[in-house]
Amino acid sequence: MTKEITNTPNKEGYFGEYGGQILPPELKPVFDEIAEQYQKIKNDPDFIKEYNELLKNYVGRPSPLYYAKNLTKKIGGAKIFLKREDLNHTGAHKINHTLGEALLAKKMGKTKLLAETGAGQHGVALATAAAIVGINCEIHMGAIDIAKQMPNVMKIKMLGAKVIEVNDGGKSLKEAVDSAFKSFLKDPENIFFGIGSVVGPHPYPMIVRDFQSIIGKEVKGQIEERDIKPDYLMACVGGGSNAIGLFNDFLDTDVKMIGVEPAGRSFKDGDHAATLTLGRPGEIHGMFTYLLQDNEGNPLPVHSIASGLDYPGIGPVHADLKDKGRVEYVTINDKEALDAFLELTKTEGIIPALESSHAVAYAIKLAKKLDNNKTIIINLSGRGDKDIDYVIDILNLK
Ligand SMILES: *Cc1c(COP(=O)(O)O)cnc(C)c1O
Repeated sequence: MTKEITNTPNKEGYFGEYGGQILPPELKPVFDEIAEQYQKIKNDPDFIKEYNELLKNYVGRPSPLYYAKNLTKKIGGAKIFLKREDLNHTGAHKINHTLGEALLAKKMGKTKLLAETGAGQHGVALATAAAIVGINCEIHMGAIDIAKQMPNVMKIKMLGAKVIEVNDGGKSLKEAVDSAFKSFLKDPENIFFGIGSVVGPHPYPMIVRDFQSIIGKEVKGQIEERDIKPDYLMACVGGGSNAIGLFNDFLDTDVKMIGVEPAGRSFKDGDHAATLTLGRPGEIHGMFTYLLQDNEGNPLPVHSIASGLDYPGIGPVHADLKDKGRVEYVTINDKEALDAFLELTKTEGIIPALESSHAVAYAIKLAKKLDNNKTIIINLSGRGDKDIDYVIDILNLK
């Protein structure tokens, strides 16, 4: 594989044709400043030391690479390994980049971290990072999401962050994004916008990718040590941060990679969030990328059983990797994800997040068709404790 894929984006923040900074001209300097400071700070030995120490002693890295022998035996095909991001402090991969963002913000002399959250997972991860690093944090959340996600709202508040209830329009994620951005614009000098995935204007897709790439770097060491030869890497794709986190350091190898998108209830508009499968290039949140959109270019409503996957856009790096054919993108629907959730729980005693269950579901499908000398590594992006009440509800288990 070519090196040019690994070394993107270019100076303007383009991964091939995708990414960039689609911003009002007066905002460009704000984001350019972040890019410039990031280039300096990421090579600062103090920053590197502090970040690595947090990853090791606070997050609990490296996360294990676990051979799922019960599941493998039951399926009777390829060997399945799990990269256990579910074992991280706070229960998912998100802490890898929120800690990086919080440290970066502090080194840049910012006084506040700010973000929106939908289901609250990103809000909790950012508020946690803010607490440990010692910086103020403000989380914008739609009033409807607040009512639905009380445990996460309470966590965010206990962690010391301020929750801003958004009562505009549909009172959900879209309005929270607008509200957070408006608040950021009031004081971009002192506020650091903590974006939750490899999305948004340059340099965020690059910064978040860099912080998440620890996942693939660790896997490289772990397979070398144990003489494992992976044939496939697999991860679920919402915005795409856990997927590129695993893939990034393997882009210049010949390992096959598969990103799994949510097919939701059906392939009708509004019933899924299969952006790369059914979308087309357009603009969203300051970037040029694949997008589920109507004829006027407005984002379509989306749905997935896994709230972390229901985003109508996608990180520009994935748009590029799709066009270049380096990564294959497939879909798994709500029902298949739920079955995989139950299957992994029963066979391995590991309760996966519904997001991660999409990758597990596709791996099970594929493993059946493969020889037992083949190997699949799944990025288990998070744990499913947060999903238990919801699963009990839909299965009528009470
Ligand atoms: C947020 C989340 C995702 C989706 O985000 P990506 O940026 O696509 O990784 C996936 N899994 C879990 C557990 C999450 O919390």
